[in-house]
Amino acid sequence: MTSLELTAEAPPEADDGVWLSCIECGESFAPFDDVRYTCDDCDGLLEVRYEDLPTWDDFDDDQWGVWRYSAALPFEEGVSLPEGGTPLHDVPRLEEEIGVDRLRVKHEGMNPTGSFKDRGMTVGVRVAKEIGVGRLACASTGNTSAALAAYGARGGMETLVLLPAGKVAAGKVAQASLHGARILEVDGNFDTCLDIVQDLAGMGEAYLLNSLNPFRLEGQKTIGLEILEQFRDEEGSYPDRIALPVGNAGNTAALYKCFRELVESGALDEDEVPKLTGVQAEGSAPMVEAIEKGWDHVERWDHVETRATAIRIGNPVNAPKALPGIRETGGTAVAVTDDEITAAQRDLAEEGVGVEPASAASIAGVRKLRKEGIVDADEEVVCLTTGHLLKDPDAAAEAGSEPEPVPGDTEGVLDHLRS
Ligand SMILES: *Cc1c(COP(=O)(O)O)cnc(C)c1O
Ligand SMILES: [Zn+2]
Repeated sequence: MTSLELTAEAPPEADDGVWLSCIECGESFAPFDDVRYTCDDCDGLLEVRYEDLPTWDDFDDDQWGVWRYSAALPFEEGVSLPEGGTPLHDVPRLEEEIGVDRLRVKHEGMNPTGSFKDRGMTVGVRVAKEIGVGRLACASTGNTSAALAAYGARGGMETLVLLPAGKVAAGKVAQASLHGARILEVDGNFDTCLDIVQDLAGMGEAYLLNSLNPFRLEGQKTIGLEILEQFRDEEGSYPDRIALPVGNAGNTAALYKCFRELVESGALDEDEVPKLTGVQAEGSAPMVEAIEKGWDHVERWDHVETRATAIRIGNPVNAPKALPGIRETGGTAVAVTDDEITAAQRDLAEEGVGVEPASAASIAGVRKLRKEGIVDADEEVVCLTTGHLLKDPDAAAEAGSEPEPVPGDTEGVLDHLRS
């Protein structure tokens, strides 16, 4: 696994041992001097690099959540609500039915605004303050806008969000609205929104806080750190596999970076790195296509459709970081149908774990890969569930049982129950 290696010698551009490095050409840049999202020379994606990489002992035992891991982040503290420290649920019935040695669910819907996006924003908004920008902006399938609105509000900054008209779940729009974001409903899909907001950011109109921003992924890296620590402390080993829903592939990239840094610091052996397993909806699966065809890039899908609106994305911007992550860890990518997603959402709910549709894709994917024999019976698996059930009340109501009208008296209710 040669590409798990990082060079850790700081270039002259480094600020306090932190710098940005282009993943394509290796050029380094100062981290907080100017606003920069991609490489000046080749337009490649940037990643945050550190002179010193932490081991387990360097994390703060007095804290739980994202900032416990400040030794792996560019700052000691962020604009915080606070975030992270989410539960790692047991799901014994699903574990038994799917047929793996161990199945745990990392429920990121338990973050302050109900999705893992909060982990990225606590770092991203902190960086925006460091650089000294005015307005914050993002394109979003919903959860990024909710998180940006809340963290922007917390930081006392103006926020602008671009949403695909009619394709964002009700809970997410409500959050962005109440937390005070200016909401633009774009006549187009998520990828169009991202094209526009990237143009605006390039013109200096706003600071971009999509996952193209490498600092977002630093915060999201802590999902991996938490999973490894929780699983190790409770199960005595690291999980064999982590399955997650994939939209822009930011989390896939962030988890891979987490593992590479731990291997580099000596905190994790190469053979302990979990297999990254990405799951997409069939109607929106450019990453799966790229993995299946052995491509080193994704081909943009112009028409995407799925009930799991959070992953309704045809042009995953972090693919160049995420594809090597899936391959180098021995993982895979798989597509599932909307009905398989809804079935998994219902099964999770029946174990008390309430998630939005996109989140349930991780369970649906593992179920499918187990049937195909790609996931083995002796594996210990963690599924990431990315957002809370209440994010998409309409999808939940549709997947759940119908309310039954009854008369307003006890006798009538009893009659109804007995009929
Ligand atoms: C943003 C989001 C995703 C997609 O995550 P990526 O890092 O873009 O792949 C999946 N599920 C939910 C609920 C999300 O909000
Ligand atoms: Zn470059």
